[in-house]
Amino acid sequence: MSEERPAPELFAGVVGQEEAVAALRAAAVNPVHAYLFRGPAGNGGLAAAYGFAAALLCPDGGCGRCPTCLAALAGTDPDLHVIRRSGASISIADVRQVVSLAQRRPLHSKRQVIVVLDVHLAALRAPALLKTLEEPPGDTVFVLMTDEVIPELVTVASRSVEIAFPPVPRDVLVRWLISTGVAPDMAAVVADSSGGNPERARVTVEDPDVAARVELWTSVPDELTASGMTAAALTRRVLESADRAVEPLRAAHAREIETLSAAAKEMGERGLPGRKEIQDQHQREERRFRTDALRAGLGVLARAYRGRVVAAAATGSVGVGDEDVRSAAAAVGLITETAEALPRNPNEALLLQSLFVRLASLAV
Ligand SMILES: [Zn+2]
Repeated sequence: MSEERPAPELFAGVVGQEEAVAALRAAAVNPVHAYLFRGPAGNGGLAAAYGFAAALLCPDGGCGRCPTCLAALAGTDPDLHVIRRSGASISIADVRQVVSLAQRRPLHSKRQVIVVLDVHLAALRAPALLKTLEEPPGDTVFVLMTDEVIPELVTVASRSVEIAFPPVPRDVLVRWLISTGVAPDMAAVVADSSGGNPERARVTVEDPDVAARVELWTSVPDELTASGMTAAALTRRVLESADRAVEPLRAAHAREIETLSAAAKEMGERGLPGRKEIQDQHQREERRFRTDALRAGLGVLARAYRGRVVAAAATGSVGVGDEDVRSAAAAVGLITETAEALPRNPNEALLLQSLFVRLASLAV
């Protein structure tokens, strides 16, 4: 095999994650037999797994152009196996499939790659997986993908090289969104609402309600009055808009449960095994998404206050003095405080209402 590192194009589909990509390009030259990709789905792990597989299967170490590279990148090479759970968690049948694949010889490459998704949902099956990792078949490389390293997976992790896929930094996401044709203002909002997750950002871009949310938050400074009623009404409207923001994700989750239930029925199961666990996970994701949507809205609001001072100063209009700049800075400070308190405060309505009352009293 060539000592050259694989072509960077193999990882063109991975947004951000420079460290992970650098580690994988180095690892591809002389791979060990198991890698644990840690990070939530959508952070780029799967695209990286396909690029890594191409590098491992290509006769030239990942040229990025040959049929093997292209097939691996598309997830269709016969020596690349992607194991998706057949139910809500990884079943013993899924693990058996992994074990039996691992015993096969590669079909046309010098090795084969087995990618196992959602390994964090394999808690009970971890010992069986571990057995395969402890008796490594010579020409198989495993890529285990996990949201997090749960206690049951610690031993599996210790037999693997861990590659982290952390949240993508905001400015990287913004640049990427703009490069895909998203308007800069929208890109900033979408990046703020996606928790550093490019896949979630993609979902948010397609949400027709995003522009309306941006408008609602931008209009807050104009709508504020000294009346507590106004603050209450605005609070209701921004909370409703956050609820609507979660709807596409909720619908996707409902579809996922439906698909899994149908698959379970086909396998002769009554009901969906592990239903509660997966619903709990969905609820956690939905809560996080909703909080992110509110925080993104607060980001828009902070930019609106900054923008007002900048715009007034630029036109040299009526009395833009130190006072206005100080008030705007105070507003931004209050907004930032609220955004930070939001994830750990159970009473969002109270928090937002109190913010709006205080902003009104600043009269920027
Ligand atoms: Zn190639």
